Amino acid sequence: MNPSINLTEKRPTFVTHLECSATGERHPADQVAGLSEAGMPLLVRYDLEALAASLSRETLDSRPQDLWRYREFLPVRNNENIVSLGEQMTPLVRLDRTAAQIGATEILVKDEGRLPTGSFKARGLALAVSMAKEFGITRIAMPTNGNAGAALAAYGSRAGIETFVFCPDDTPEVNVREIAMQGANTFRVNGLINDCGRIVAEGKEAMGWFDVSTLKEPYRIEGKKTMGLELAEQLEWNVPDVILYPTGGGTGLIGMWKAFAELEAIGWLGSKRPRMVAVQATGCAPIVKAWEDGAEHAELWENAHTIAAGIRVPIAIGDFLILEAIRESGGFAIAVDDPAITSAQIRAARDDGLLMSPEGAATLAAYQQALRSGLVDQSERAVLFNCGNGLKYPMPPANRHLDHTGPIDYGRLIVDGPSHLPGNNPNMGSR
Ligand SMILES: *Cc1c(COP(=O)(O)O)cnc(C)c1O
Repeated sequence: MNPSINLTEKRPTFVTHLECSATGERHPADQVAGLSEAGMPLLVRYDLEALAASLSRETLDSRPQDLWRYREFLPVRNNENIVSLGEQMTPLVRLDRTAAQIGATEILVKDEGRLPTGSFKARGLALAVSMAKEFGITRIAMPTNGNAGAALAAYGSRAGIETFVFCPDDTPEVNVREIAMQGANTFRVNGLINDCGRIVAEGKEAMGWFDVSTLKEPYRIEGKKTMGLELAEQLEWNVPDVILYPTGGGTGLIGMWKAFAELEAIGWLGSKRPRMVAVQATGCAPIVKAWEDGAEHAELWENAHTIAAGIRVPIAIGDFLILEAIRESGGFAIAVDDPAITSAQIRAARDDGLLMSPEGAATLAAYQQALRSGLVDQSERAVLFNCGNGLKYPMPPANRHLDHTGPIDYGRLIVDGPSHLPGNNPNMGSR
């Protein structure tokens, strides 16, 4: 099979219009769009009946395994506007030793760290940049905690679109550098992501750029939606009982929720939905607080801090959509602290060989907490999302040296144990 056939074969598209996620008001498709008139996120709507008539599961099954196999569910009209770096389907990785230790029947991690630019932000930006190309946009800006900016820089450069990226100055160093190296005009800002967002919004007129902030344009979520399509397909057109998702702006959670609804509408899924669980860090948990308060919207979280930079989002424009999906699904929101995140990260790496991002590890820590407190039952099949490659984050040092010119005391190699174990490394907390 021609591996690039998903990018080159002529396939029909089914977008009918854009819809305000708050008021339901319709906006036309096929022209540049940001927020709705009500200032809320716009969602892409499709003629799902026609889609169902045009695509079968068997046809889908025969296509190469990447994001563009779901073309009929996506908004790009013309092949020549597809901007792709090889967005392959990501695997479900089992963590068997970890499962045994935390009292889980099974742990399945959808490992999004395999995607281009090392995070699932590639899904969203592949779509947003392809649509920008379709509309002839030549300059894009965004605020980012790191991974989104890296994906924008990469896809923007590939499309020949100029990009401007603004990062809080404590964004992981590797992110800032990869953004710059991939060709974006890159700036460190002495504030948080919402402060960066304001710079983007206020510079629009002077700079003539298109704002691709989370949910401020309708297409990143369509890319993230493919996580839900993929997961359902990998489970043979079923959904798990629970999905634990590290939640910042919430695009992925909202996107998967949308995917499941579309799949039900075309008859590929039943009415069962996974319980959607938003995982945040105790140092930045606006959605958890809103969930606990029974509020419809979240409030700005002051002094946000956590090592899990991707979920350090003090305020999210799609908060009400996240909360809606959690409620409708019978899910919940839960916060874990940084030491628990670090412990989970070490556990998965050491016991199962999967180096997770701190955000992904947060879902493992939350799962462990939820099993213990009974929020999730052992019998429920849970899928955790590891949204970024662990290699993109600072790691504890490994400092044991040997002098090859002198005698080696082989007995000592074992006595001291692996260097990453707590006790051997003063930089890591105890488990
Ligand atoms: C962006 C990001 C998140 C949060 O994703 P949202 O869909 O915006 O909530 C989680 N983890 C990582 C690694 C990220 O880069």
